[in-house]
Amino acid sequence: MTEDFYCDAVLSGKTSVEKVYETQNVLAYHHTRPFYPVHIVVIPKSHIPSLITLGDEDTDILLELLSVVKTVAMQVTNEHGACRVLTNLGKYQDSKHLHWHVAFGEPLR
Ligand SMILES: [Zn+2]
Repeated sequence: MTEDFYCDAVLSGKTSVEKVYETQNVLAYHHTRPFYPVHIVVIPKSHIPSLITLGDEDTDILLELLSVVKTVAMQVTNEHGACRVLTNLGKYQDSKHLHWHVAFGEPLR
């Protein structure tokens, strides 16, 4: 496992993913090793380390990211009646590339 799974494996194309939704700068896809029954990841296509490293100049990408998170969360909520949305920081953040989890159901492990 590398420090940055998203740049190294997903955005490089080394790992193929099942896309859920995509915009010019943002990708949403089904987690490759899900830990919820429904588990979608939303990432910026450019490298951003985490939510709290975003600067004032990143407002456009933040809005685009949140717009995709909202769209995906709405789909999951409409389909399943509930949804979790979260992003991890510090030692909770496994891969040092900003990513949002959009999930439904009880944890699988
Ligand atoms: Zn990255």
